[in-house]
Amino acid sequence: ADIERLYVHETVENVIPKTAFVEAFDDFEIPAELVGDGEQYGRTDAVVTYRPRPEFLDAGWVHCARAGYDEFDTDAYEAAGVPLTNSSGIHDETVGELAVNYMLSFARLLHVYRDHQNDADWYEPDYERPFTVGGERLCVVGLGTLGRGIAERADALGMDVVGVRRSDESVPGVSRVYDPEDLHEAIADARFVAIAVPHTPATEGMFGAPEFRRMRDDAYLINVARGPIVDEDDLVGALDAGDIAGAGLDVFETEPLPEDSPLWDFEEVVISPHKGSATNRYHLDIADLVIENARRYLAGESLRNRVA
Ligand code: NDP
Repeated sequence: ADIERLYVHETVENVIPKTAFVEAFDDFEIPAELVGDGEQYGRTDAVVTYRPRPEFLDAGWVHCARAGYDEFDTDAYEAAGVPLTNSSGIHDETVGELAVNYMLSFARLLHVYRDHQNDADWYEPDYERPFTVGGERLCVVGLGTLGRGIAERADALGMDVVGVRRSDESVPGVSRVYDPEDLHEAIADARFVAIAVPHTPATEGMFGAPEFRRMRDDAYLINVARGPIVDEDDLVGALDAGDIAGAGLDVFETEPLPEDSPLWDFEEVVISPHKGSATNRYHLDIADLVIENARRYLAGESLRNRVA
């Protein structure tokens, strides 16, 4: 297979600076070119993009600049015989650190102190409220790149880490792996439940009222995966009813999170604007992955992270 043109579709700017990303290919044998909509593609073109476009099905290979490729019609790619690859495998450190951040904040009340700092208020919480994460149980739902990144860091903090996935393959730092059928058992004793599964028909609405009732009432939900995995109305209901203590949320059913969402107003909800992977070198990590796959593509080898 050949690549004559390596296109970067401008929608990548949702997550990375497009010019810096294009420049990251300067040392590669095929320079990258920025394109917008209205371009025509052929089988010797490769496209790196954030959002799907129907015309990409005419290209030779398409790379999705994010790990979650749920917006792409994988059946259409398979029918067209166009390989689709995603950007999984590079978010263990970034998203792992964000999840740890939420947990440490909930344990030591940094978010609460900052709220009070805004009013120059020297705030004294109840003695019972702060705790250490060491020894607390974390259940990580989904043990791929994200899940492992979270589990490894939590293990290093002395947490008791269990997890959920379909295959029973063991994972470093995770003391017990549950089948998704046993989700309720897996989350029942956890102080923190971190969601790290892809958004699929099987995971949509995986967390709703029954799960929140099953969780401890002093437990925190962390969602760094995709909004629709959690029923947001049920989450608001569970927070109101005290079925769970709080939530660290990076992803939402609708993004940006609408201004009138009740989630904004809970003291024990920390909201980050889908920034789990956002660091100043994210564009270089994605470019490395694309270059590795471009080399494989040119050499006729199988592609890394092929999802269709
Ligand atoms: P991976 O494919 O590496 O891991 C997914 C994991 O989920 C695997 O361990 C898989 O294991 C497990 N899994 C899949 N389906 C189920 C199920 N029905 N029940 C339980 N476990 C399941 O993906 P990543 O870790 O790279 O990313 C996960 C998701 O996180 C992405 O799809 C994306 O939506 C989101 N994401 C969010 C980011 C952010 O900025 N907040 C950044 C990057 C990713 P098994 O096959 O054994 O079930």
